[in-house]
Amino acid sequence: MGKKFKGKACAYCGTGDAGTADHVFAREFFLLEDRNSLPKVPACPRCNREKSKLEHYATAVLPLAGRHPAAIQNCLENAPRRLQKNEPLRSELDRGRGQRWGTSPAGLIVPETTLPVDPKLLTGLYSYIAAGLSWYHWEVHVLPNNLAVQFLTSESDRCLRSTLIPRPDCIPVERNLGNGTVIYNGFRLSSNFLGVAVWFISIYGVHFGNENASVGVCRKVGVFITFLN
Ligand SMILES: [Zn+2]
Repeated sequence: MGKKFKGKACAYCGTGDAGTADHVFAREFFLLEDRNSLPKVPACPRCNREKSKLEHYATAVLPLAGRHPAAIQNCLENAPRRLQKNEPLRSELDRGRGQRWGTSPAGLIVPETTLPVDPKLLTGLYSYIAAGLSWYHWEVHVLPNNLAVQFLTSESDRCLRSTLIPRPDCIPVERNLGNGTVIYNGFRLSSNFLGVAVWFISIYGVHFGNENASVGVCRKVGVFITFLN
């Protein structure tokens, strides 16, 4: 671990003297050439271990559903190897594979393959990511109970932005990692004793749907957090 994090508390659970460093977005999400200067935070061995279990799942599954060129390349090069090592996950994905009609970026109606995902594992990972980003950008510690993850439709994304951005106390963050492999925005409202922030995160441009068709397609994951300013 670099000197930078020496003696720092874990970005995820707040435990003193974290002892290890962690990439907020696992390096495996990125192509080799895009792995430099990814955000890193101090992490205790326990959080590091728990988070990497969730990352094993997400780095195997999300490239299969990705729309971004890096996802497709990652899918061809790495995901099969990761899935080969995880036979139960491979057969679960195979069994749950489906088809539906979707809209291409050019607006054409095209057939799409759908895959079942475990929302618990994904929301767990996005919670860690949001806590990590809060520490990385604002040096704020967010405790697990103060995080709420939601899959956002374009409409709810727009609605939230138009509420947050005009506020004079809003501190925005925007980053694009690995040529769009990961895109995230953060909006922090800092005027109160109780801080409030939202992270919007997109990995590989994956779309999330729901078996209940009345819920629109979700293009981003939103993580809502509160913390003491
Ligand atoms: Zn920890």
